Amino acid sequence: MSNDMSQRRILVVEDNPKNLKLVRDVLTFSGYEVIEASSGEDGVRLAQEAHPDLILMDLQLPGIDGAEALRQIRITDQNHIPIVAVTAFAMNEDRARAYASGFNGYLEKPISARSLPQMVEDFLTMGGPA
Ligand code: MN
Repeated sequence: MSNDMSQRRILVVEDNPKNLKLVRDVLTFSGYEVIEASSGEDGVRLAQEAHPDLILMDLQLPGIDGAEALRQIRITDQNHIPIVAVTAFAMNEDRARAYASGFNGYLEKPISARSLPQMVEDFLTMGGPA
């Protein structure tokens, strides 16, 4: 459970309504502000407009995928927002590919409601190069 009362904003880019609901419920309960996009295009737009503190990015999305969305976000991202890949792939090579694409972290589905708050807290402290 988070003991930091400053409300931080998490952008969740996820096209699966069940996964989105799980992440929204857990993070809202933990005191985060959650904003949502169900496509990579909307994710890019919200990343630019809403200045989230962290982005959880599903890799498999309709339209542009998570890696392309990250690439587009990084073009204008002045704040080095930590962006975490979320994927059902369990292979080591997928993890390696996510890091090679420039993601700051990697989260495997199915997402554990129990461990998600601490993982998000850890991701929030990563930031990027100052
Ligand atoms: Mn998906």
